Amino acid sequence: MTERLVEMISADQIRARTKELGKQISEDYKDKDLVFVSVLKGSFIFAADLIREVDITCRIDFLGVRSYGAGTETSGVVQITNDLSRPIADKDVVIVEDIVDTGLTVAHLMDLFRTRNPRSVKVCSLLHKPARARVHIPVDYLGFTIEDKFVVGYGLDFDEKYRNLPYVGIVERT
Ligand code: 5GP
Repeated sequence: MTERLVEMISADQIRARTKELGKQISEDYKDKDLVFVSVLKGSFIFAADLIREVDITCRIDFLGVRSYGAGTETSGVVQITNDLSRPIADKDVVIVEDIVDTGLTVAHLMDLFRTRNPRSVKVCSLLHKPARARVHIPVDYLGFTIEDKFVVGYGLDFDEKYRNLPYVGIVERT
């Protein structure tokens, strides 16, 4: 079986949208105590590009979660593999995700974070697949809505491959 990559969202499109999101967040969080929480591994490239489009004081922390195995279906169980390095009490948190698919991961993280008394929690996701939603997640800052296809690239993997692609694409197997 051979794998072929088909581009869905180009590097230029991602760059332009990320710039807009960074500008919007900079305006919305001018007088706040902003902490980005990048959900690993998938969001590390998006988070790195996004925070460089933010021109206000902010911090970044990382949270390791595991919700997928080597396959492409969610297990519905979210395991924290690496917790935040600092408390988020009284902070204005923006969770940075690669993709909101069923929504289970972000729903779980929002519940977890609320127990730590942040001032606010919002969600910024590069991608959203509304067709597969199992819980309603308001994505406050959204890059692109996509159809129900399994995507890779720009941080997203298939069996740990393709994270390094500069664009988002679909893997076609023939
Ligand atoms: P959810 O809990 O919303 O179903 O899924 C969240 C996580 O599943 C994402 O952060 C991502 O790691 C993974 N995921 C969901 N859809 C896709 C996809 O189309 N491609 C890849 N590579 N990962 C996905």
